[in-house]
Order: sequence, then structure tokens, then C-alpha cells
Amino acid sequence: MYCARAAGWIMGQASSGTVLVEGSGASSRCTAGTHCGRPVGSSGGESSSLSASVLVLNRLYLAVHVVSVRRALCLLVRDLAEVIHLEEGRFANYDFQSWREISELRGSCRHPHEDWIRAVNFDLQVPRVIRLLAFDRLPKRELHLSRRNVLARDGNRCQYCARHLPVHQLSIDHVIPRSRGGITSWENVVCACLACNIRKGGRTPHEARMKLVRRPGKPKRNPLLAMKLENPKYESWRNWLEGVHWDIGARD
Ligand SMILES: [Zn+2]
Repeated sequence: MYCARAAGWIMGQASSGTVLVEGSGASSRCTAGTHCGRPVGSSGGESSSLSASVLVLNRLYLAVHVVSVRRALCLLVRDLAEVIHLEEGRFANYDFQSWREISELRGSCRHPHEDWIRAVNFDLQVPRVIRLLAFDRLPKRELHLSRRNVLARDGNRCQYCARHLPVHQLSIDHVIPRSRGGITSWENVVCACLACNIRKGGRTPHEARMKLVRRPGKPKRNPLLAMKLENPKYESWRNWLEGVHWDIGARD
């Protein structure tokens, strides 16, 4: 019921946006709780604001995950979470209704780095941080070795020709090919453009006379979050991502 409400409210367009960590597709489903798994969001094209990301804190204000706006709204409308918003150097807490009211008040004075979504009869500012009201487990620390994390670690840059390319033009290359005993590890996989990957084939870089831009290794910090933090609109996340809480849920 609640996610259906969210789906009805959200109509689409907004001011700006970026995609990376999670829920990049129109197939996003609410996973707010065990009883909810229905699709949410607009039925039309994806708006950039809806594909933005929201940092999730646990009840103890520790960062535990990054979710899509849809999932965040599901959590909010089901009263499983509240908005944490930075205001004049202090953080304020809002339930969904009060966040909606604040959004209406702020609607005429929008900042360029904010995202907004248009509902049936009101506009809603996209929250950057939400806090789960009943979840107090600690974040998972292990950094997942995934395609997206490897591309993020390498900055979407081919590690052979050094070109920055869109994600869909990049691939994962095993430095020591699997056919030669190479394993899938942070130290043996790199981002490579399709041309370089084909050119290298089943050879080692030395055999192919292709030099790596840099030696691959496991990143000390979650590379997807690192990329996010380069975007000014996620500036407030820094307050929650200092020190030990960097390796939070970054998954495909
Ligand atoms: Zn290349």
C-alpha cells in the first residue's frame, strides 16, 4: 500500500542527478521490509533525480548502505526511516510528513545541487541521508569485488590506453589471463576498453607490450563512494563516512 502511494506520488522530472551505487534500473523494487517488494517509481522514463543515491544510516547514526531514491522513499513512507538533513551546520530529523512540509516551504528556493521530484500535487526534495529507526546492526565491512567497483576504482579509465570512457564501453581484463592461471582478485583485474581487451587477448601485458597505467590492488576505501563524494551534491555524506565506516554496502 505504501509503496503504491509512493509510486503514485512520483511523477518524474527534476533538476539534476547522477547514478552509481545501486538501483540504476527501472526494475527497482522496494526492499524496505519483508512484506514489500513491489516496483516503485514512475512508469515513464527514469528521471535523474530518481536515480540519485541516498545514504542510509542505522539507528545509531552509522552509515550502513547506499540506496536508490525509490528505496529511500519506501522506507520513509512506511515510517521505517527518517530524513537527516543538514541545516546551518546542524543535522535535523524529519519524518516523511514533516519532510514533505519542509519541501513545500523550500520549494521556491532551490539550490543547484539539490534534486527534486514532482509528485501528483506537490514537489519533494530528494533526501541525501536517511536513518533507519529500528535497524542497529553494524555495516558490512568487506568490500565486494564487482565489475562496478573495479571500474570505479580505476575511475572508468582504461588501464592500458588511459582513456576515460562510459561504463558500457569498458570491460574487465584479467592482467594474467585466466587461461594462464590468473585468478579473479583485486590485484589481477583492471578496467580495459574493448579495443585494448581484444588487442591484449590471452596474453600478459608484457607479451602484448601493453603497459598498465598503474598496478592494481584492493582499494582502501569504497571506490563507488569515493566517486560519489567527488560530486558536490553528496557533500553531506562526508559527515558519516569518515574513518572506519567507508566500506559500506556497495553492490551491483
Ligand atoms: Zn584502452
